[in-house]
Amino acid sequence: MIAKNIIQLLESIERKCVEVNRNPADVKLIAVSKNFGIEEIKSALLTGMTDFGENRAQELTAKFKEFGSKVKWHFIGNLQRNKVRFVVQAADYIHSVNSLQLASEINRLAGKVNKVQKVLLQIKTSNEETKSGVEKESEIYDLVNYCAEYPNIELVGLMTIGPLTDDIERIKNSFIYLRELKGYYNAKGFNNIKELSMGMTGDYKIAIEEGATMLRIGSAIFGERDYSKEYIRI
Ligand SMILES: *Cc1c(COP(=O)(O)O)cnc(C)c1O
Repeated sequence: MIAKNIIQLLESIERKCVEVNRNPADVKLIAVSKNFGIEEIKSALLTGMTDFGENRAQELTAKFKEFGSKVKWHFIGNLQRNKVRFVVQAADYIHSVNSLQLASEINRLAGKVNKVQKVLLQIKTSNEETKSGVEKESEIYDLVNYCAEYPNIELVGLMTIGPLTDDIERIKNSFIYLRELKGYYNAKGFNNIKELSMGMTGDYKIAIEEGATMLRIGSAIFGERDYSKEYIRI
């Protein structure tokens, strides 16, 4: 089932890219494996998936122990400062940097292990209370500038979670805003900000239209998540 889902999804992504004149090679699919276990990840690996997304430090650590660097790990969840150590150890990318304190702690702990941690800034692009991320333009500005100074952080992109709505225009506007923000910083000379991490199961086609380079997709690959179950079912 997982293999079939991945194949169908990759075909759908490719069709959408062709439709909007984009190169499918510029759009990376991240399989969001949170709440699924080792067996599901193995099935996805067999299908050729390389990049996986997790949103809890503990779960990421357990899966990192199992698969190590056979997998490129993307941390996409809210990150508490006392968990940074574990995430820096395992994650190739941290998509959810949303404060100076967090950026500074990532820089400090990455320095301790001689790593340059790739990060994205999580931006709040819709006015939904539930969505976390930086919203104020002055805060985004400070974060971009601080990250450029930190030796053990490489700021590679911006991330957002689209609004949970059927209103396509609102979703579109949220993604357009993220793309324009990237353009603004690129014009200011921050040319490492290349990635736009946006688009999930419900809105990935809109995200491709608006320039996403990283799609974070869970349910369309692994099925519905069952939060009542323990996360790791080995
Ligand atoms: C869970 C999650 C996803 C994947 O969501 P689906 O709707 O299952 O594709 C993407 N991004 C973030 C930040 C998530 O927490």
